[in-house]
Parts: sequence; structure tokens; C-alpha cells
Amino acid sequence: MNLILLGPPGAGKGTQAKRLEDRHGLEQLATGDMLRAERESGSELGRRVQAVMDAGRLVSDEIMIALIAQRIDRLGDAKGFVLDGFPRTVPQAEALDAMLAQRGLKLDFVIEITVDEAALIDRISGRFTCSSCGASYHERYNRPKVEGACDFCGAAQFVHRADDRPETVRARLAAYHAQTAPILPYYRARGLLRAVDGMAAPDQVTRAIEALLAQSAAPSHG
Ligand code: AMP
Repeated sequence: MNLILLGPPGAGKGTQAKRLEDRHGLEQLATGDMLRAERESGSELGRRVQAVMDAGRLVSDEIMIALIAQRIDRLGDAKGFVLDGFPRTVPQAEALDAMLAQRGLKLDFVIEITVDEAALIDRISGRFTCSSCGASYHERYNRPKVEGACDFCGAAQFVHRADDRPETVRARLAAYHAQTAPILPYYRARGLLRAVDGMAAPDQVTRAIEALLAQSAAPSHG
């Protein structure tokens, strides 16, 4: 099963993609995480994308398409992929179609996580992750059960993303509207688009996604 999660920054794509990875044996392909790893490793690519990311703008289609093609070729024994953060422009969506067709793969669904944008800045600016396993938390809504220790791996170090500052979040939202939202009609026209309410609690969003996948997996009669 090959899925795309779409939605503005802060919609919960990363949280849901991780759950899909665990529950369905899919590989989460999170382009933002890949770029942050490049930056941390100090690679040439990491240095090239740094300023663009910090400004909340999009990295070039050329770089992103090459990055994702490499990862799709290295899927190993995963039962498919869940794309989180890609495609973000219509040219990326077109390149993905071509890439999958060449490899005899297809998309099963594109799931749009819809959100109330007024709530996004508050949601994003409080979030932080475990620097060891990547688990997500929020300063007000979802703190670790034991203060200072990750619920999942016990690590004591947490990080805030540099681009989660309110002014950068506004730029990322503007980029979403100008460049990413035009992808929605592209997938709607192919009958692949489904929507779930991303303002619900994370567990409820997971249930909505699971219901959608189960419905579509059920044999159709008539
Ligand atoms: P994310 O973690 O998905 O919010 O991505 C963080 C940042 O990485 C974005 O604000 C962009 O600067 C860059 N980025 C991630 N994925 C893409 C993509 N598919 N196309 C262009 N830029 C991207």
C-alpha cells in the first residue's frame, strides 16, 4: 500500500505517518526529516538547503525529486510507503507519478488532513521531539508522562525545530497555500483524495484513517 499524507505544517502528518509505519509495515518517507538529517550531517546538500528551510520556503523541485527517487529505490522489504511532506508542488506530484509508473508502482490513497489554521500556530510553536527516537510532544497538550524523559525510549534530550518559530510558520503556511494546495485538485481528479479532520485528537485521527483504509480494502459488491 502506498499513501501520501497531505496537509499544512502542524496538521499532524508526521505523527500519523509514524503510526501507519508501525501498524502497516510501511516506510515513512518524510522529506523534512531527510533534509534535517542532511543539515545535521553537515553534507553539501544540507548546507545548500539551510537558508531556504530557515526562511520557511520550499527547497527546489529538482533536489526534492532526486532525494525521493533514491529513497523509493531503497524501500527494501517494506510493504509500501507513506509520503509525509512530499509532493509539495504540482511538478513534484507529476514527477512522482512518472517515477512510480517507471517502477511498476501505484498510489493507493492521498489523505488530506484538514485543520483550522488559526489553531496551527499555537500547535506548532509548542511542539518538540525526542532527539533520540523522534517521538513528538507538545508543551501544553502532550508532555512526556515522566517530566524530562521520553515515554518511548527514556532519553532525556528534546529538540525544538528551528523553523517552528511563529514568523517562519506563517511563511510555511503561505508556501502551503501558494504551492502545495494546488495539488489537491490534481489527486481529486484521479479519484485518490480522501479527507480526515485533523482537529480531532491524534488517536481519533488515526481511527479515521484506519476506517478509510479498511473501507477501501473491503471487497466491493455490485
Ligand atoms: P517539513 O518537516 O515537512 O515541514 O519540512 C521542513 C522544510 O523542509 C520545509 O519548510 C521546506 O523548506 C523543506 N521541504 C520538505 N519537504 C519538501 C518538499 N517536498 N519540497 C520542498 N521543500 C521541502
